[in-house]
Amino acid sequence: MENTKMSLTVKVLVGMALGIIVGLIINLGGLNAPGSFINDNIVNGLFHVVGKMFINALKMLVVPLVFFSLICGVCGIGDIKMLGRVGGKSFALYMMTTAIAIATAILIAASFGIGKGMEQTSDVVFAGKDSPPLTQVLIDIIPQNPFHAMANGDMLPLIFFSILLGISMLLVGRKAKGFVEGAEVANEIMMKMVTIVMSVAPYAVFALIAKSIAELGLDLLVSLTGYVLVLVGSLMIHLFVTLMIVLKVFSGLSPAVFLKKIRNAQIFAFSTASSNATIPVTMRTVTERMGVNNSVASFSVPFGATINMDGTAIMQGVATVFIANVYGVDLGITGYLTVILMSVLASIGTAGVPGVGLIMLSMVFTQVGLPIEGIGLILGVDRLMDMIRTAVNVSGDAVVSSIVAKSEGKMDLATYNDPDAGTVSTDGFHIDETVEKELADTVQQTHNQA
Ligand code: ASP
Repeated sequence: MENTKMSLTVKVLVGMALGIIVGLIINLGGLNAPGSFINDNIVNGLFHVVGKMFINALKMLVVPLVFFSLICGVCGIGDIKMLGRVGGKSFALYMMTTAIAIATAILIAASFGIGKGMEQTSDVVFAGKDSPPLTQVLIDIIPQNPFHAMANGDMLPLIFFSILLGISMLLVGRKAKGFVEGAEVANEIMMKMVTIVMSVAPYAVFALIAKSIAELGLDLLVSLTGYVLVLVGSLMIHLFVTLMIVLKVFSGLSPAVFLKKIRNAQIFAFSTASSNATIPVTMRTVTERMGVNNSVASFSVPFGATINMDGTAIMQGVATVFIANVYGVDLGITGYLTVILMSVLASIGTAGVPGVGLIMLSMVFTQVGLPIEGIGLILGVDRLMDMIRTAVNVSGDAVVSSIVAKSEGKMDLATYNDPDAGTVSTDGFHIDETVEKELADTVQQTHNQA
């Protein structure tokens, strides 16, 4: 049993490694030429279909999972005053870590002077998009129609509605007990569905990564070495140093245990390049692997996926320094402070989906007067950078969730310290024949009574 448990994480890692190797072979061997058999049938055929099906399966879980787990989270919190504290602490920590992330990134990038003396020309054109203004972000927190928010997967209005529903259930009191019990069962069912979807991850991760790497312009990675190295270096420093210090200082929890347990969520984030699509895995990881109580995780994880983007902020910092240097613009201290502020604010209103960092960047550039066309220079490597920064974004969400849970006494330390807790195992997929019969009888009886 132990072996089957272990093998899934190992299989996902193997899938990832094979994906990188196969992707590299296709890319470096020039097998991805448009019109070629491999390009049309394998990369854009098989890999594309398997990868997209998997991302759809993950996205399919997000809304019902967030909805039911938040209802249970609010009803199970035990002290409603804690809700405000959990919200306040999560928000403060998310903003703080994002600000630290971008400030360090700017310092590192500036001290390396990346982009100085580089050619300004790029044939790739980037059309900037506007991010919504903060006032609109605030207004949109309240959904006009909760079903519309659900259908669109809009996280903040969904969080708002689910919390309000949970509070209203508490206010209704005993009469709402049946509803609360129903939500609790629904939450458990959704968690089981997460496990089912995760169990096919090794193949899907392989397909997703092989496709991304096969399509990447690896020559671009070389011509942008300075930018890529400083960016990846800053992301790693944030993940392994800054976030781990924050975790240790604010919660006393072991960074080594954290880094080991967060791995699955990081791989999912890396392969999908979407914090939002990774919500089910992050939620499962922090609750079942790390012991964060659902009353904290049900809020902090989807909230973090939307407003917390440490990795994305780091990209903004490095890209700003890089492009300012390429264009010979001196932004000065005020310029860089504006960049920090804008990035932190922009992260609040933008969802964690692939490529959103570039849209935020165009907003930052408009503010500080850098040419939007400059973004075209880094466009070619952005997909790979997006994958890496999303893994950092998701790690930040889990760090904050753990700190908040620990500080509220909502963390099960035995689970955190148990290396095997919550590992994905297909053992739970066995359907008990007696239960199967009982449920069938129940359905039959209910049907006959009707
Ligand atoms: N893909 C990132 C995320 O989902 C956002 C970005 O940096 O583009 O968190």
